[in-house]
Amino acid sequence: MTDFSNTRDMFDIPEGMIYLNGNSLGPMPRAAPAAISRFMLDEWRTELIKGWNTRGWFNQGNELGDRIGRLIGAAKGTTVVGDTLSIKVFQAVAAGMALTPDRRTILSDSGNFPTDLYMTEGLIKLKDAGYVLQTPAPEDLLDHITDDIAVVLVTEVDYRTGRKHDMKAIIDKAHAHGAMVVWDLAHSAGAVPVDVGGLDADFAVGCTYKFLNAGPGAPAFIHVAPRLLDVVEPALSGWYGHEAPFAFDLDYRPMPGKIERMRIGTPSIAAFSLLDAALDVWDLVDMNDLRARSIELAELFIREVESRCPGVTLASPRDPQQRGSHVSFRFEQGYPCMQALIARKVIGDFRAPDIMRFGITPLFIDEPDIRRAVDILEDILKTESWKDPKYQIRAAVT
Ligand SMILES: *Cc1c(COP(=O)(O)O)cnc(C)c1O
Repeated sequence: MTDFSNTRDMFDIPEGMIYLNGNSLGPMPRAAPAAISRFMLDEWRTELIKGWNTRGWFNQGNELGDRIGRLIGAAKGTTVVGDTLSIKVFQAVAAGMALTPDRRTILSDSGNFPTDLYMTEGLIKLKDAGYVLQTPAPEDLLDHITDDIAVVLVTEVDYRTGRKHDMKAIIDKAHAHGAMVVWDLAHSAGAVPVDVGGLDADFAVGCTYKFLNAGPGAPAFIHVAPRLLDVVEPALSGWYGHEAPFAFDLDYRPMPGKIERMRIGTPSIAAFSLLDAALDVWDLVDMNDLRARSIELAELFIREVESRCPGVTLASPRDPQQRGSHVSFRFEQGYPCMQALIARKVIGDFRAPDIMRFGITPLFIDEPDIRRAVDILEDILKTESWKDPKYQIRAAVT
């Protein structure tokens, strides 16, 4: 059994703060400052250029990929870390297109996170080969999988409502129709059990700064099914994916049969040190225990809000099996209400037009936190303190 009081002690959260935003930016692990300082003083300062060999910087993205692989059900050597999620989405969709050359439709859904759709639009424009992007409502996605679809690009857990797609049904149907699937795990990795290997996902991508807690701008990851490792065509053909980067050949030849071919260029080794420290916490966690605990806390939260906070309605699916690890409520004055919560150290976030979103992260959230957060929300609603003009001003990042 995972002991979540141990994991809670591994985070440095400011006194008195109830952090319900681990789904957008995870909090700082206590080990992070020492890890980055160790990298700077014992690696960069002392080793300098030698560090690429002596400290294994060159293959660190692969080692970190394997550590993430354990959390998403990926076999060793099928996941690599580097770049940002937007880039990894581009790379995976481009690779899927190259594997289905006779088809011209990319299927996603209108609940997907916009950057996934934007990157696909850009890719379609660049290819200039008659591709179209379809975005039906999330609940209609499955019905749109036909023999015309080249790639299905799906984010498992909806960033606004937490609604969770049935990935097995999507992957099985896509494969029956000869389509490739790119599975975006941004709100799944570290949030729900994932089995990319068991479900035979073609591609999976995700970021490490949300539930995985590796810090703002932390690198992304990509997984490729073992059966595709020798055939995926890297559209972003950087030297880190070359068969022999230090041969400095004039022609690109992808690393044969290995996930290395999905690397692009020199990654941030400083950022890798933070990810490495963040993943130490996960060594103590069983994903099934985490899921059970997340559901327990989310059910408590929903029960308490619904019984004490009139005017606030559940935007997430009521069935816990249909949700990821965040819970959202609609409230017409959601923006100022969230600002009032934040002013009282209950940190969630707001998603337009009226969603108040709360990440339920058992690594550092417990029952007293949930009850206290609802006490404060109840008080803000009762006293209508959200009406204060200072809470109406919109910041650039919400
Ligand atoms: C957070 C998120 C992103 C962010 O992409 P970045 O390149 O890291 O900014 C992309 N897709 C989804 C589904 C997300 O939730």
